[in-house]
Amino acid sequence: MPETRTSEIGGKTVSIDENSSAAEGNQPQRYSPAEIEPKWQARWDADASLYAAEAHDSGKPKYYCLEMLPYPSGALHIGHVRNYAIGDALARHMWMRGYNVLHPMGWDAFGLPAENAALKNGVPPREWTFANIAAMKKQFQRLGMGFDWSTEVTTCLPDYYRWNQWFFLKMFEKGLAYRKKSKVNWCPECCTVLANEQVIGGRCWRHEDTVVELRDLTQWFLRITKYADELLDGLEKLEGWPEKVRTMQRNWIGRSEGAHVDFAVADGDAKITVFTTRVDTIFGATSVQLAPEHAVSKTFALEDDALRLKIEGLLAEQQKARETDELGAIEKHGVNTGRFAVNPFNGERVPIWVANYILADYGTGAIMSVPAHDERDFEFAQKYGLEVRRVIAPVDAPVDATKQKLERNTGILRSAQVDAEDVVGDLPYLAEEEAVLIYSGEWTGLGCVEAQEKMAAFAKAKGFGTATVTYRLKDWGVSRQRYWGTPIPMVYCDRCSPEEPLPVAESELPILLPEQIDITQTNGSPLGRVAEFVNAKCPKCGGVARRETDTMDTFVDSSWYFYRYTDAKNSRVPFDSDKANYWFPIDQYIGGVEHAILHLIYSRFWTKVMRDLGLIKNDEPAERLFTQGMVIKDGAKMSKSKGNVVSPDDMIGRYGADATRMYALFAAPPDRDLEWQEEGVAGISRFLGKVYRLTTKYSTVARMAVGGSRVESSAKEQALLRRLHKTIAKITQDFDGRWHFNTSISSIMILVNEITANEAAMDAGEISPAAVAEVFRGLILLLAPFAPFFAAEMWEELGGEGVVFRTAWPEVNEELAREEEIEIPVQVNGKLVTVVRVPAGSDEAAVKAAALADPKVIARIEGKTVVKVIVVPGKLVNLVVK
Ligand SMILES: [Zn+2]
Ligand SMILES: [Zn+2]
Repeated sequence: MPETRTSEIGGKTVSIDENSSAAEGNQPQRYSPAEIEPKWQARWDADASLYAAEAHDSGKPKYYCLEMLPYPSGALHIGHVRNYAIGDALARHMWMRGYNVLHPMGWDAFGLPAENAALKNGVPPREWTFANIAAMKKQFQRLGMGFDWSTEVTTCLPDYYRWNQWFFLKMFEKGLAYRKKSKVNWCPECCTVLANEQVIGGRCWRHEDTVVELRDLTQWFLRITKYADELLDGLEKLEGWPEKVRTMQRNWIGRSEGAHVDFAVADGDAKITVFTTRVDTIFGATSVQLAPEHAVSKTFALEDDALRLKIEGLLAEQQKARETDELGAIEKHGVNTGRFAVNPFNGERVPIWVANYILADYGTGAIMSVPAHDERDFEFAQKYGLEVRRVIAPVDAPVDATKQKLERNTGILRSAQVDAEDVVGDLPYLAEEEAVLIYSGEWTGLGCVEAQEKMAAFAKAKGFGTATVTYRLKDWGVSRQRYWGTPIPMVYCDRCSPEEPLPVAESELPILLPEQIDITQTNGSPLGRVAEFVNAKCPKCGGVARRETDTMDTFVDSSWYFYRYTDAKNSRVPFDSDKANYWFPIDQYIGGVEHAILHLIYSRFWTKVMRDLGLIKNDEPAERLFTQGMVIKDGAKMSKSKGNVVSPDDMIGRYGADATRMYALFAAPPDRDLEWQEEGVAGISRFLGKVYRLTTKYSTVARMAVGGSRVESSAKEQALLRRLHKTIAKITQDFDGRWHFNTSISSIMILVNEITANEAAMDAGEISPAAVAEVFRGLILLLAPFAPFFAAEMWEELGGEGVVFRTAWPEVNEELAREEEIEIPVQVNGKLVTVVRVPAGSDEAAVKAAALADPKVIARIEGKTVVKVIVVPGKLVNLVVK
């Protein structure tokens, strides 16, 4: 428990005497967060039920408010404070609105930093991790975050990771987990494989400076591609997610519809299958382009040494570009193999090239090059002087030119190309809509979209192709050659199952991660050197088998952790389905946009798998997603090397947790980047000091007057109450809408200014005690989601009953909240029809709109034409109709 007057977080002791409420003048009572906050924290920490969710059959409407769980690095950073301040404000608001709120927290506790710290300092990963968790939990509590710690989830504990293993067995059973040899991303710094999603700009997601290598390894994969279409289609329904996240996922899944078409290699048996999204342009194909690693390229290279050297050169260029993520902008090079492929649609022989920009692992590793209708192909053809043959034209192309060529085009195609320029427009011509095929044999004259369908069907009927769909999304590689992760529950038995890995029995779970081992990193997992771990009993023949020594990607842990919160202690199943079905989907998920591809796509996949296993009913994990902006300092991302890191502990030490949190919400709209300025935190602290002074000054009046009636109301009292209710209306709207808490907090500041301006009136009794009580109670309730310690203290000061954030959110008096309105008579052809109410000072357009929207006016002018609208501002509207 922290001591008063000092805060002891992260081992630091910072005096907080210099908080600046003294600026408010000579007041008997002074705002001192160093006294208030630890006092309330001690009370809250001692009351486990305070933030606990009620049972799933409580009958209340539920609200699942969730912030992404942190990695236990040792200390919360200021970006965390912002993330959790947003979620905590929302959770408290929803409690006050009468919801049964689940607001849990946990630790994404497996992963490399623990292992690296162990290598560096000799502390076992487990010890390091749990020390960090303890420190960060203390920080959370010091910040006053209202988490339900009774459902805490720590992913590195066997009671959690055993379910990772259980899910893995289920997926293996369903064919969703499999092993294959493939090219994988290898980070030499991490000494492990990375998923495609963890390679950013050709570099490791953890090591910005480390170029990722490609290695051939046998790895475990999860078949996320099975859900590619559903993951894509589901995005349409996720209207509560930011459009940018949905777009990123759409692009990542990268679905493209097209066709596979087989080109036979002339003078040989081989065939080259190309993938194209524009089979309608196939009569314009003037070459076939292969990846350097394509099987046919390799065959040609074997037959021709000079060619082999050139192809190797292209491959080297490609690998270099891939490693630096410059593939998109690679300077295109190619080599003509001197061989030909036969276009199955017209029997034409086209040259086969090998090019550095064609990837073996994308599509089929081969394309047909149509320079007239593809920008990349056009660029390549210009460079190497390849033929450009136009086969698509706008529907309104000059008829003569088109017709002439159609006739000429029925036989040999080559002759047609001579006059291609006669067709209007520049090349490449990329349109598919309002465009038709020319010089395309029997397909000539068809619209492009229709032709794509018919030509793919034709290829299928003739046995040289088919319509197909490809995805950019690849299966999720989950094997990691590191120690601090979930052991994969599979074994290998040379005796009875030399080819196929065998799943361990469910009853053997959890397969425990051994502790106190030597984790020196070389190649391969450190677990491979732990004999007690490696040697296992074969589940089939009972002989000695070898345990899988790779561990799971830690993104497995975070793919389903939020389900475990609903039933964190269950030792029979991952969670009780009834409980999960009550709480899911998450009503509001809050976290950084950097997870748009990794965590947010994996957890959508996991949800669909769990649904198909019959565990849950929801298709998507979260109904709404919010991605907060970054906290920056001096215009840049905070980093130790730049020396611009702001420590939450320092801020709390100087200004208190409330001011720190509230500033994080006040300084910018939550979805934008926030430039941290300490002066701003000091300003919030002064503002709280002002509220403290006012509340303590009027608390005696307010206490006695609660529930009293206002007999007569002065103009000043009316104005003050009007301001209160406008503020309530605005903040309620902000919570329901766009969360512009910066303007919510500034509206509270305006209210406080108005209270200050009315001090003399309150002192003189011009404002009734009942109104004083209403204003102060309202003010403190409005502050409760943003400054919880402060609100708790002030609520007690005002004699408020019970816990402040379980008190009902103040109700808006609509009458008072309304803008002051004036009445304007509306005439139709000079006859009074009705009177409309508009805010005072409304402009002509607003008055006119209000008049035209009035039901009586609508009824009167129905079927007639409004010839003229005359608005006399503030006085009258007259409609002239015929
Ligand atoms: Zn790395
Ligand atoms: Zn066996």
